Amino acid sequence: MTNGKLVLQAPHDRIPVNQQALVAHLAGFGLIGSSYGETPGVYLVGPKFLQLITFLGCSPHLQLEPRHESNEEFSHIRLLGPFEKPRLLCAGNTRPPRCPGCGKGLTQWRELAAAWMEGMYDLEITCRECGQRSSPLLLNWRRKAGFGRYFIEIFGIFPEEALPLPELMECLRRDGPEWSYFYLNDW
Ligand SMILES: [Zn+2]
Repeated sequence: MTNGKLVLQAPHDRIPVNQQALVAHLAGFGLIGSSYGETPGVYLVGPKFLQLITFLGCSPHLQLEPRHESNEEFSHIRLLGPFEKPRLLCAGNTRPPRCPGCGKGLTQWRELAAAWMEGMYDLEITCRECGQRSSPLLLNWRRKAGFGRYFIEIFGIFPEEALPLPELMECLRRDGPEWSYFYLNDW
């Protein structure tokens, strides 16, 4: 099994504020099923999970239900947020984002990661090559990290093995701007 996750991220300016309404919506289109365990906001996958997310290859590792109690390595879903300020979610697979000015990798990003994970999104990063200062919100994390105020984490996914289908992205955005997605994995 894997500790990898697929993370769906709401746009900064359109986060779901009404949790009950969001849960009803996600259950209504079949992404989430019943709640799981003691932690609020954790759910089993819903009846349409495999129609909303496509798995590349034969996915022999996919496990949709826990094999025993306190088993965390199966595919389940956690709602994370809303956070007052955008924060970074990253993991061992996260690569240095590129400087928007010169294209060089901002290799010192990990020195700022702890502050960004706490929501200090206005802390800029300065490129060591060209000196350009960049907001972490505007960096391209290449689907290996994300900066947001609301996330839906899907556990038990190998990186880039699972692809959210257009129907899922449509259900999430409704009439608003697009959601995005990325993958996290620790080795
Ligand atoms: Zn630069």
